[in-house]
Amino acid sequence: MNKSYDKNNIFAKILRSEIPCQKVLENDHALAFSDINPQSPIHILIIPKKAYLNFHDFTQNASIKEIELLWKLVSEVIKLKKISKKGFRIISNSGDDGNQDVPHFHVHLLGGKNLGRMMNL
Ligand code: AMP
Repeated sequence: MNKSYDKNNIFAKILRSEIPCQKVLENDHALAFSDINPQSPIHILIIPKKAYLNFHDFTQNASIKEIELLWKLVSEVIKLKKISKKGFRIISNSGDDGNQDVPHFHVHLLGGKNLGRMMNL
């Protein structure tokens, strides 16, 4: 990691209940809540409860249980929102090239409409 974790990032504050979120689901190791600026009818963020900077930090340093429960929660949200048949998109922005704004690992789950091509490159 070339950047250290900032304990005052907005998702850390949500996890400490210092600021509110619109919770969707949670389990022992992960929390799902609505994105404040939705890019599609369904736009939910899924984050680990412990401090990880980004996807690489999480997959390198989290326990197998944490990794399992994060992806299980993504799956539970897909089930809750009934989007498994119509489809969805999962994105995780990382670092400068990925344009990650919030430096706490998160998965974007987007759906509820046809999302078009993946990127406008
Ligand atoms: P990223 O660019 O991948 O880091 O995305 C960060 C996401 O966090 C953006 O989609 C924001 O709309 C979202 N966001 C920022 N602050 C909040 C908040 N307080 N509650 C919910 N979502 C937020």
